[in-house]
Amino acid sequence: MIAKKVLGLPLKGLRFAIKSRDTLTKNTFTKGVLTTSTQIKMWLSSTLNSNDVEKLTVDRASLTDIDNTIDIRELEFTKAPINWIPATILIATPIAAAIVTPWYLATHQVSAPVWGVFGAFMVWTGMSITAGYHRLLSHRAYKAHPVVKNFLLLGSTLAVQGSAFDWVSGHRTHHRHVDHRLEDPYSAKRGFWFSHIGWMLRNYPSGNFDYKNIPDLTKDKVLQIQHKYYGLWVLAANVGLVAAVGWLLGDVWGTLVLAGLLRLVLTHHFTFFINSLCHMFGSRPYTDTNTARDNFFLALFTWGEGYHNYHHFFQYDYRNGVKWWQYDPTKWLIAALSKVGLTTELRTVDDTTIKHAEVQMQFKNAQQHIETIKANGFDIPHALQSFQDRIKFEYDAFTQTVEEWQALKAKTIELKKTEFADRLHEVDDKLKHDYAKIEQKILAHNSNLKTAFRSIGHSTKAA
Ligand SMILES: [Zn+2]
Ligand SMILES: [Zn+2]
Repeated sequence: MIAKKVLGLPLKGLRFAIKSRDTLTKNTFTKGVLTTSTQIKMWLSSTLNSNDVEKLTVDRASLTDIDNTIDIRELEFTKAPINWIPATILIATPIAAAIVTPWYLATHQVSAPVWGVFGAFMVWTGMSITAGYHRLLSHRAYKAHPVVKNFLLLGSTLAVQGSAFDWVSGHRTHHRHVDHRLEDPYSAKRGFWFSHIGWMLRNYPSGNFDYKNIPDLTKDKVLQIQHKYYGLWVLAANVGLVAAVGWLLGDVWGTLVLAGLLRLVLTHHFTFFINSLCHMFGSRPYTDTNTARDNFFLALFTWGEGYHNYHHFFQYDYRNGVKWWQYDPTKWLIAALSKVGLTTELRTVDDTTIKHAEVQMQFKNAQQHIETIKANGFDIPHALQSFQDRIKFEYDAFTQTVEEWQALKAKTIELKKTEFADRLHEVDDKLKHDYAKIEQKILAHNSNLKTAFRSIGHSTKAA
């Protein structure tokens, strides 16, 4: 018991989230009632003149109105205390890797097996985050055999990105409040530095996770143990396990430098790219209601998670790169494991729904295109008019197809409820045929839109 305390407590601080929401709520409440008046006066006095400030009577009723315009939590962001343990790890490890790795490689011979272990640990750690913490635990996109789940859990522990509880809770909040300055723990609206790494360096209000959004995980015994002794697990994996493998290879220090330190730093930043760069650079083929982007180049570093626009729109799909040709090794791993029964119930979004989202976005782009052309003052009334007419015609046809599709979906539910079991097979075949027809129509709208875009493209160039 004493040993447990000695080993468990000091290392517990390695968890990235420091306080629970209960503590935060208590603090906010105390500050809210007792000191909000002073804080708001301080805040407003920098933007309003003293007469305006005097006019404000800050009682609890008026507080609600003020909170609607100036959120008090913005103040907490400016003076958030440093998260010492994560900050030390996240700043010290890249510096150490940048100095130690070149020095070690210049002064020592590293054998091929050690490089092999470095590569294997890169794959294991990186894919454990994407296939494990992310698609399995955060989104429940598939089910995994305990062997797979625990292997991914160990790999995620090697990644030193917080316990499953913290990671998943934060990630679910990210999806729920994406881009919100106060609610999204790694909001891209606060800029590259904050979304990449800054959010972990200080104890921001948005980083205090509420485990109420992970009821499915908090009752899992293995995850409870990982959470409780997280620091111990991190050391055992990153030092103990890596050194043991190094000892087997006859090069403990080489393995610690490459498969330990360098691998840790690279994996950290490759994962962090998803929160920063994948919300900045790339295309938005499915939705433009948030900053998430699809980016092939970033998919190369993030084990397929670079298709982040798709992921934010269809988060429960086990694929992020949804097209068969899109580089998503995580989806290939999950699919391959399903062939031998180690993963099951892989969740996917049907092709028609995906295509519908894409075509819908193309119409939105067409509209924006028309506005840009008009704003740029191109003198091409005929070309623009015919483009506009084509888009309108196509949109009406598309709306009709969507209505047919919705009617078919309603009919499917009705038939499945009322038909006798022996007729279900027959009904299924007929429905499949109807769905295929709808999909064909949506594909036709897609190709008509592309033709329309090409024609206006030529016209604007000619102009
Ligand atoms: Zn995101
Ligand atoms: Zn996600």
